[in-house]
Amino acid sequence: MGKNTMSALVKEKPGPGLTYAEVPIPEVGAGQVMIKVLKTAICGTDLHIYNWDAWSERTVKTPQIIGHEFVGEVFKLGEGVIGYKEGELVSGEGHIICNTCRNCLAGRRHLCANTIGVGVNRDGCFAEYLVIPAENVVRVASGIPLEVASFFDALGNAVHTALKFDLTGEDVIITGAGPIGVMAAIVCRHCGAKKIAITDYNEHRLELAKEAVPDIWTADPRKVAFGELRKKMNVCEGFDIGLEMSGAQSAFKDMVEHMNNGGRIALLGIHSGKTAINWDKVVFKGLTIMGIYGREMFDTWYKMMSMLQTGLDVSKVITHRFDAKDFEKGFAAMQNGDSGKVVLDWGNGG
Ligand code: NAD
Ligand code: ZN
Repeated sequence: MGKNTMSALVKEKPGPGLTYAEVPIPEVGAGQVMIKVLKTAICGTDLHIYNWDAWSERTVKTPQIIGHEFVGEVFKLGEGVIGYKEGELVSGEGHIICNTCRNCLAGRRHLCANTIGVGVNRDGCFAEYLVIPAENVVRVASGIPLEVASFFDALGNAVHTALKFDLTGEDVIITGAGPIGVMAAIVCRHCGAKKIAITDYNEHRLELAKEAVPDIWTADPRKVAFGELRKKMNVCEGFDIGLEMSGAQSAFKDMVEHMNNGGRIALLGIHSGKTAINWDKVVFKGLTIMGIYGREMFDTWYKMMSMLQTGLDVSKVITHRFDAKDFEKGFAAMQNGDSGKVVLDWGNGG
């Protein structure tokens, strides 16, 4: 390998910020794969860790390399690993599971009771090299742009949520036009939804949604109430499918109020407070509300790559690209909130 240290973005000690540091290259153990990282993308979770909010303080043990959205090349196989060749293009599932709990044994691996998050509960991918269990490695299907593969994790959240309920020919409301909300809108259009609306407080993000899905209806709910939006769209009876992707209390409340009878809601957004909704609406409308966590292993990955190979185009969601050394610029773009996906290049030849 030549050298035995690598560059990485490390949370060295509790408190805000990150350090671009030289750290030892990790060992590759039995059953693991070492990946040479080409590109990574910044997720909202990374921003929480960067800012060191109360959740990060409770969750992250320092020093730790952060990051979980990546694409790279297989560099070295640990003992016993078969099926991969050096140089193969791969990404990976950021949830490491136990393989022994009830859900793991039943094949519902995204619901593992003992999930460990790459870059959250252990070292992550914001580094020149990453080591993960072989079962977390996902081969990148041919014809998919490298930059898009760098945020499979987030696209997987969007795909998992959007595909939870059959939305072909249905009217869809998405609350929150963050990168995941916009990608979900693109997936809904690809899958044949009828009318799609997306709400956000951020004009830039609504513009991004409009660029990505030209026939989408956009609204800032402070200016255009849900009822008015529905009238404009001629969605008389209410929305059939709701994708909650903002984590905002008012968004979820409005969504529940404006669903059609029998409507189905997939809830991805993480609510910081205790959101109260009108439960009578849930009862009398016969709504289904489903929580969504991570990605299904590995059906979401399969469908995501299949759709990317057959015309799904999420490249418009990328708004910023930087060298990993310039990570501060990347985090500043995320902090500002006008960004879509922010991609960092690790100078490894990608
Ligand atoms: P993001 O924070 O970039 O986007 C959320 C968007 O919601 C922002 O653009 C914000 O302006 C908008 N918003 C805020 N209040 C709103 C309101 N009242 N109505 C409409 N929009 C409003 O987040 P993201 O990275 O796109 O992720 C979307 C959500 O999914 C976040 O809540 C995130 O924490 C969550 N998430 C969950 C999982 C999971 O496994 N369940 C995984 C990843 C992300
Ligand atoms: Zn498990």
